[in-house]
Amino acid sequence: MSEKKVLITGGAGFLGSHLSDRFISEGYHVICMDNLITGSTSNIEHLFGNKAFQFIEHDVTNYIHVKGDLDLILHFASPASPIDYLEMPIQTLKVGSLGTHKALGLAKEKNARFLLASTSEVYGDPLVHPQPETYWGNVNPIGFRGVYDEAKRFAEAMTMAYHRYHGVETRIVRIFNTYGSRMRLDDGRALPTFMSQALEGKDITVFGDGSQSRSFTFVDDLVEGIFRLANSDYVEPVNIGNPQEITILEFAREIIRLTGSKSKIIYKELPKDDPQVRKPDISRAREILDWEPRVDRSEGLKRTLEYFQEKVK
Ligand code: UDP
Repeated sequence: MSEKKVLITGGAGFLGSHLSDRFISEGYHVICMDNLITGSTSNIEHLFGNKAFQFIEHDVTNYIHVKGDLDLILHFASPASPIDYLEMPIQTLKVGSLGTHKALGLAKEKNARFLLASTSEVYGDPLVHPQPETYWGNVNPIGFRGVYDEAKRFAEAMTMAYHRYHGVETRIVRIFNTYGSRMRLDDGRALPTFMSQALEGKDITVFGDGSQSRSFTFVDDLVEGIFRLANSDYVEPVNIGNPQEITILEFAREIIRLTGSKSKIIYKELPKDDPQVRKPDISRAREILDWEPRVDRSEGLKRTLEYFQEKVK
């Protein structure tokens, strides 16, 4: 039997690089594609030289050419933190729309299965809590975050259209806040910001009064869920996230305790349209994929701290 081939767009990013590791360990040949605007070769340098791994620097908003057969495409290319997509609004819209179109076109051409990295952001600032996949969301289309949210909503629509009209085998994962090694220290998200600030003894910047909630998933759990979804026959979106919910203020305190830092918490203005709550309903993932998170936050944060200690030196 010949080895299976997977293309991972955004493969040099935080999630893409962990997926590259997982699919290689599962015996796949991995083609990692990235334009390196937010991804980094340092996330995949341990894979260079591995015969089962290939890196192509390419912007997937342009025509994608891959030689030979493909079994699976994981479409993970996109700026993914609020700071990144505020700095790169047009690229964010383009990769979610044009990039998804190109990746789906390639899936159709190669007769490959396609898995879209969607997001809990499709629920916007949710009026239903926790969020099941059947909730249509509350997104401000013209707000600053809209460039990401709407691009991903468009990407879901495009994915379903390729499934319905071209018969492409598609999967959609809605990813909730995920953390772990290889997050960029300066990506502006709560976890890397708080960890770096705590380790450097700087003030911890909580936005608003910190009463907004998130539900943080350890990266290994997410990768497991995605692997199962890719191998399932389920077409509708599936939430993958850890329902352990926490306020951002409490999260900042947890990181201060974990690092033993002397940092103080300071409060800054809450960004516009910042969702007030977020927590996945994972009934569907439990039922369809027999998946649930295994790593709780205290364990996941400990493992993540080791990475940040290495980086903040
Ligand atoms: N946040 C914060 N301080 C920071 C960065 C983020 O208080 O330095 C807050 C942010 O306003 C949001 C939450 O932490 O309420 C999670 O933000 P993140 O950017 O990690 O992800 P989001 O879920 O908003 O996409």
